[in-house]
Amino acid sequence: MVKLQKPEFVYMGGALRPWSEAMLHVGCEALTRGLNVFEGIKGYWQQDGRFGIVRLRHHYERLQRSARLLHIPFEHSFDEYTQAIYDLMSTLLKPDRDMWARTTLFVTEGHWGENTVADLVITAYHQDKKVPEPIDLGVSTWQRSSDISLPARIKTSTNYQVARLAKIEGRRQGFQDMILINQWGRVAEATGSCVLMVRNGVVYTPPASEGALESITVDIVESLAHSLGIEFIRRPIDRTELLIADELALCGTLAEVTLVRSIEGFPLAKEPSILKTLQDRYFRAVRGIEPHPYVELSYVPLKT
Ligand code: PMP
Repeated sequence: MVKLQKPEFVYMGGALRPWSEAMLHVGCEALTRGLNVFEGIKGYWQQDGRFGIVRLRHHYERLQRSARLLHIPFEHSFDEYTQAIYDLMSTLLKPDRDMWARTTLFVTEGHWGENTVADLVITAYHQDKKVPEPIDLGVSTWQRSSDISLPARIKTSTNYQVARLAKIEGRRQGFQDMILINQWGRVAEATGSCVLMVRNGVVYTPPASEGALESITVDIVESLAHSLGIEFIRRPIDRTELLIADELALCGTLAEVTLVRSIEGFPLAKEPSILKTLQDRYFRAVRGIEPHPYVELSYVPLKT
């Protein structure tokens, strides 16, 4: 068995330190882009004064699937996972801010997949209650890795190395987010969200087999579209289709439904109308203004 040595000293932060004191913070990028699996979950203040987290069980189940695929033990039951989130959120919540939490299963012990030990770490951040502003989107020269390199289906931080490079590339060009192309030259997803495209009145999004995460928000938007009588189809999207799309949006727990104003510097062919309708409906559902059966909410017990 390969064993990791624990020498007496480590050089860190400009000095020698005992092995046990050579620590990195759970919030630093070395860890948040490292070996772990995670979920980003979002909670909204509801019209009736409660605070609801969107589709929590689906996030738990995806975390379980990611952990299994990366051979990371995950022992928490759904109730334990939920309770931990409730404990943190109810402590941090502010009446005028929504909240996004990152539930991360960090690999804390083990070596090359032997004797792996993991710890569930939850961090939560306040969010403005605003509908996101439309963005300028670019197409990255960096590629989404394939299912046999770093599978998009696994929500592991390691996957976000390429997203980080794409974001750096986009920032220099004045784009707020970037599309990653897959190994076949087609659209995979954006750096932290999926892509919605409208052509001739139909909403399209690439399926997971094109290199997109199995998105919980895309499932919601698909269901909202069906309820509104809008056609929604999952199929591959060519790069050139993006450039001539009528409407585009990004879609994810954090991106929610973010409308796209321009793609690669070109304004979109049409003013957002179908995607605007879906965006409005999404926010009405997650805020409990017009509930939808697909937008299941878990209510955080509030401290009085
Ligand atoms: N793709 C990537 C790379 C993401 O990080 C996210 C956000 N989790 C999504 C897609 C959207 O997934 P979801 O709707 O489940 O948040």
